[in-house]
Amino acid sequence: MLNMTPKEIHKRKGLKINPAKTCQPIGAMYASLGIHNCLPHSHGSQGCCAYHRSHLTRHYKEPIMAATSSFTEGAAVFGGGANLRQALKTMFSVYKPDVVAVHTTCLSETIGDDLPTLIKKAADDGIIPKGKTVIHANTPSYVGSHVTGFANMTAAMVKYLAEKNGHSGKLVSVIPGYVEPSDMREIKRILNLMGVRHVLFPDTSDVLDAGQKGKFTMYPRGGVKVEELKSTGSSELTLALGKFASETGAQMLEQKCDVPFQVLDLPIGISATDRFIEALIDITGASPPETLIEERGRAVDIMTDMLQYFHGKKVAIFGDPDQVLSLTEFAVNLGMKPVHVLTGTPGKLFERKAKKIIGQAAESPNVKSSGDLFLLHQWIKNEPVDLLIGNTYGKYIARAEDIPFVRFGFPILDRIGHSYFPTVGYRGAIRLLEKMLDAIMDRQDRDAPDFRFELVM
Ligand code: SF4
Repeated sequence: MLNMTPKEIHKRKGLKINPAKTCQPIGAMYASLGIHNCLPHSHGSQGCCAYHRSHLTRHYKEPIMAATSSFTEGAAVFGGGANLRQALKTMFSVYKPDVVAVHTTCLSETIGDDLPTLIKKAADDGIIPKGKTVIHANTPSYVGSHVTGFANMTAAMVKYLAEKNGHSGKLVSVIPGYVEPSDMREIKRILNLMGVRHVLFPDTSDVLDAGQKGKFTMYPRGGVKVEELKSTGSSELTLALGKFASETGAQMLEQKCDVPFQVLDLPIGISATDRFIEALIDITGASPPETLIEERGRAVDIMTDMLQYFHGKKVAIFGDPDQVLSLTEFAVNLGMKPVHVLTGTPGKLFERKAKKIIGQAAESPNVKSSGDLFLLHQWIKNEPVDLLIGNTYGKYIARAEDIPFVRFGFPILDRIGHSYFPTVGYRGAIRLLEKMLDAIMDRQDRDAPDFRFELVM
């Protein structure tokens, strides 16, 4: 299918082929779903909203609820203020959310709609009922990526809702990064095991992985509550997991309510999870409970059993920057050679960090931010790998080059169930280890001549 991709690499400017990212509003919509009783609202044309909803629906296999300002030619000329007012009236009277989280699109950004003024006017005119909240984030898709959109909407939660009342009670705000609902649940479980009183936001657990109870629920029971978001202004510290997705929200909380913050890597793999646990030890002063020590022990035990098969294997990793950086470190810990590492999200910091993590593990590795899958494919043609790790779009490269492939990150559109299993923490590390080694060994079995087709490894 991609057999025509040329091996020869020419410098390209102003042209992306198969970008390794998607648009900002998708991340904003995902973050909004992590607020309890919240209806995300796309301020733009219907097409954008339909695409963003369907992309999330295809990944989570859940119906994604979101409204749109439904711009037509009139809105493009005169601005979308009237459309937003009508939409707010309809949303609050028909769908009755507690919160409407508005994000912009390329069109409304280009028109220059002034969302804070439009929202204030709607509130002054009684369009926003008492006790209900409307927040907004600017998410022009011609800059950044879905990760930027997630970061911007997380910051909007703080900007509109965080309040400083001085009663911290040793509360820690935790921004989990652009991770799966199962990851958010796992992070909360670890925080609870470590005895950390926390507010995690956004929180899509029990929203996008809510159980089937035989009847449709417009707003499942999960999501961070408005009262909890208000309390973040009085927390003693913010832990931002993943610089690219979480630092903006943490910075906003510091700016608005003087809450200091600490940025940690996403706790994917043993080393990054260790650093997360160490940060929690610093906060509580308590030792980790036996449950976590046991889990770490199991992860290390499995890793030790598997090391001989991972050692020296070349791997290509692509996806969202926070995930890719932690996973690259995990691969290095396994003795692998991350020879190609790429994200579609912009940020030279990614390249510096990735090169530092890889260090001597691979000679002259290819590392790129703001990259695309065409380039990744060319890299692989020039230096083949034993394993490719990334989202669904990697399957075309995997097929063209006949490489074992592990689906990881966002979006995964062609498999079901992935969002129910965490990849963070020690339990997540075990799952990743199994998936990665299965892919390598399935290939080994497929290619083995009869006399090397082993029953026992
Ligand atoms: S117009 Fe912009 S916001 Fe809408 S789908 Fe396209 S890139 Fe995304």
